[in-house]
Amino acid sequence: MTLRQMPKPETAPKRVTILGSTGSIGTNTAALIAENPEAYVVEALTAKTNVALLARQARELGAQLAVIGDSDRYGELKEALAGTGIEAAAGPAALIDAAKEPADWVMAAIVGAAGLEPTLAAIRRGGIVGLANKECLVCAGDLMVAEIRKSGATLLPVDSEHNAIFQVFDMKQSVAVEKITLTASGGPFREMDYESMTKMTPEQAVAHPNWSMGAKISVDSATMMNKGLELIEAFHLFPVEKDQIEILVHPQSVIHSMVSYVDGSVLAQLGMPDMRTPIAYALGWPERIPAPSPRLDLGKIGKLTFEAPDSKRFPALRLARQSLQSGGAAPTILNAANEVAVAGFLDGRIGFLDIARVVEETLERLAAPALRTLEDVFEVDAAARRHAAGLV
Ligand code: NAD
Ligand code: MG
Repeated sequence: MTLRQMPKPETAPKRVTILGSTGSIGTNTAALIAENPEAYVVEALTAKTNVALLARQARELGAQLAVIGDSDRYGELKEALAGTGIEAAAGPAALIDAAKEPADWVMAAIVGAAGLEPTLAAIRRGGIVGLANKECLVCAGDLMVAEIRKSGATLLPVDSEHNAIFQVFDMKQSVAVEKITLTASGGPFREMDYESMTKMTPEQAVAHPNWSMGAKISVDSATMMNKGLELIEAFHLFPVEKDQIEILVHPQSVIHSMVSYVDGSVLAQLGMPDMRTPIAYALGWPERIPAPSPRLDLGKIGKLTFEAPDSKRFPALRLARQSLQSGGAAPTILNAANEVAVAGFLDGRIGFLDIARVVEETLERLAAPALRTLEDVFEVDAAARRHAAGLV
């Protein structure tokens, strides 16, 4: 069945907003919505700098509002939307306002801690939030969970591993869960020796073997910091203890993650590595909607393999695990330093293995107090960015 053949929805169309609509997750989300126009009304779309794509998406999807984060591009956006009746806005406050617009479903697909405030604004409205932006949960997990409890919002994980766990985690039997296993592809440098890793360029690091993604998360996959961030993300999303989450390298990226129960059963979700599947799961929830992802053919793949992660060549895994164990502001520092280091690597200012070094030195130098308020998060995040920038 194709998306166009979907039965007509019996309920009113869903009002949807995409925060970060021009990115890898954002464009995939927009494409799923465009395939089934009767089922959705698009409220707001946001982007950082790409006016041309944002305006094209807003026109195609008939959005009410388009917001560009870069204030200097307001005129350009206004012009691109002239005569359409689509409202244009710009700047950081407008990004947060976009998340406050009435929507039943919001995709949080901004990259980095920059997405925290808009995502929180969407959570505070109490609707459904599809969460791709894992950095929010890493830098302010406890506060976000508290806001979700307060507003009654439903957070649906879009990250493929967490989406997989969400699909097989029996929330009514959470005491019967022994552990959850996050699978990791191992990234492009999985088999490379340490010496060669020192010379890896941004082009080599973003060339992921299985997934097509934005630059930042692609570098995170190469350092395996992505799996470290996902470890912390999983801790906030699911009712398990820190030591009940393990990481397993699975180079084919077919098993997206697993949940082990006390009776010895292990439940997993499988599929081809294509983000349209977890996005469609979140978009349709609690129903399932079709997605045009390639179908899994295990006979053709033939062999699924597994190996333990190597935290010597991928120190980010150890740093993330330590940050989760220490708690407080440690994950916030880890995330902020990593964002600065990855940007420095992409700009050619530091080498590939310096990314983890910058994160480690920042974690060692900064105190990690408990985080009570959002202001505490911003303060720690800014201090970590300053320190990391000094090292880069
Ligand atoms: P991307 O770089 O392709 O897109 C990021 C989007 O956020 C763009 O629309 C951009 O305009 C916007 N943006 C960036 N900086 C911003 C800022 N400072 N203020 C406002 N908007 C800003 O990234 P992506 O790969 O789509 O990833 C988005 C998020 O989803 C990340 O947190 C990533 O870890 C997570 N994620 C992505 C994938 C994937 O397959 N791409 C998979 C799992 C999780
Ligand atoms: Mg993932």
